[in-house]
Amino acid sequence: MSRLDLVVEETERDRFARTSEVQIGDKKIRTPNFCALIQYPWEFEAFMGLSLTSTATEQLGSYVMRVFDASDILVPRLRIKGQTNLMGGNFTDELFSKFQRQNILFVDPALEYLFHEFHFQRFTKASQNLPIHRQITNYLNARERRRKNSSAKDYEKWKRASHTSFWHELDRNSKQRNDMIASFLDVELICGADILIPPVPFVTSEGLLDIALRINKISQAIATERAACATYFLLQKSILRHETMLDKIINFIKNDTNAITVFKFKNLTLWESGCIVERELFGKLKDAITEVKRSNPKKLYMILESSYQSFLCGCFFDVVSSSLRGFDRDSNYGQTGYGAWFYPEKLCHIKFSDLPTIMKNNGGRLPCNCAYCQNLTIPKLKNMSLEEWRDGRRIHYTLTMNELMKMIDEAIRTRKIELTREFLINSEMRNLKDLIPRF
Ligand SMILES: [Zn+2]
Repeated sequence: MSRLDLVVEETERDRFARTSEVQIGDKKIRTPNFCALIQYPWEFEAFMGLSLTSTATEQLGSYVMRVFDASDILVPRLRIKGQTNLMGGNFTDELFSKFQRQNILFVDPALEYLFHEFHFQRFTKASQNLPIHRQITNYLNARERRRKNSSAKDYEKWKRASHTSFWHELDRNSKQRNDMIASFLDVELICGADILIPPVPFVTSEGLLDIALRINKISQAIATERAACATYFLLQKSILRHETMLDKIINFIKNDTNAITVFKFKNLTLWESGCIVERELFGKLKDAITEVKRSNPKKLYMILESSYQSFLCGCFFDVVSSSLRGFDRDSNYGQTGYGAWFYPEKLCHIKFSDLPTIMKNNGGRLPCNCAYCQNLTIPKLKNMSLEEWRDGRRIHYTLTMNELMKMIDEAIRTRKIELTREFLINSEMRNLKDLIPRF
């Protein structure tokens, strides 16, 4: 495979914010870009359908899947694609092929689940389908045995210690560490990734941060022949209370020659009251990113699982990502029943049961200009099946993110970036307003 480089061209700028065009091979996206986190087969179908049929997709064109979701959703499709059918011809999945040719895919190693419980077992399942490195599967198996055979309290204590020692031991054995990295990057390529993301640890301490920095550097070297590779920081949100660790990250990105850097702060909720220190340090990070991009406009920054911070982040990061539910926290809440609707102007969710009232007060329609909501009446809403609403609210969310990114794009083009601050002040996310400078 010949390596495709990521090319970034800045197109417009207004003070700290900019728009750009990003190209990898024949695939092109515009920034600020919304990158959909796809977690379920039905989400993939809905996103693919939207991507192929809608014209309101100017700021879309990229998507991300965690490796275990890609294993379930993409790998079976990719395998079928290469097979011959009984008639001797090739199986054709025209729509999937077309979608693939147009959209940039990131596969997130999501190794926070070597620490967090929620999707921990999904890795074990994925390793039956993909060549996940045995160091990781051994660790997962040992952990599963421990979970079954000890009390909840003992298990919690053991887990913290064993997660740290797993990474330190791996890091001490350079051959095993490098094998793990190479095999993980290959797994991402099997899933069809366009840009590789290094398999870094979930950073909960300075020691793990050092390991993450090393894995980033080694991944660059290993990926050279394979594909473009990002720098990745997968961080516990408490890192935003440790300035020395944040400074180390900032120092790294200032000297990093890599074109794309990806951040994920797990369960980040900067809009909540009391998150003052976290907000300030997040502000320090976005200032550093702004500075790097000013001196080197070819750099691209991305943030994963940005939840309600997506609009804010669209002003500083080039690519922002969240789940199609619009909220990124591991929970079974909202998986059953009629899920909440994302209110574009307020940047928060409204309960399904409150929607008829909202509609009545808004001339019978939802306060959203997207094609999906414009078509929705109160009787239609009341007769909606669970599946229809499950897909519908995701289509609405995706179209809304496209509109919000377009709004930032427009503010930059017309040199009125301060309007983004106004927008935040009028939303439920007004606590985030201070992160956008006043002029
Ligand atoms: Zn809508």
